[in-house]
Order: sequence, then structure tokens, then C-alpha cells
Amino acid sequence: MATTRCAQCGSPLVEITLNRGESTMTMQSCSTCDTRSWRADGELLPIHRVLEAVGRR
Ligand SMILES: [Zn+2]
Repeated sequence: MATTRCAQCGSPLVEITLNRGESTMTMQSCSTCDTRSWRADGELLPIHRVLEAVGRR
């Protein structure tokens, strides 16, 4: 099993996957330096797109 590591500090990242209708969003969070990144269907997602998606109800 591959572990994704933080680009900033090299610590293992915690992954949280959310299913949002037709797409899957994955949040990778570093507990060491608090870096977070989001992916949707394997593509890196800019933070403003994440906020749009989460804010939409
Ligand atoms: Zn880190």
C-alpha cells in the first residue's frame, strides 16, 4: 500500500475521501505542518474550487 507523503515535510498524509454526487473529492492533510491539498477524480483541485463545491447545497 502506497503512502502519500507531504511535499513540505515528508510526513505521511491522512486522506479523507468525500463522494459528492458525480465526483469524488479526496483531501490530503498533513498533521505535522498542516498542509492540505484536495483532489477531484485524481486531479489537483484549487482551493477556491473546493470552497465552491462545499458551499453549494
Ligand atoms: Zn507536512
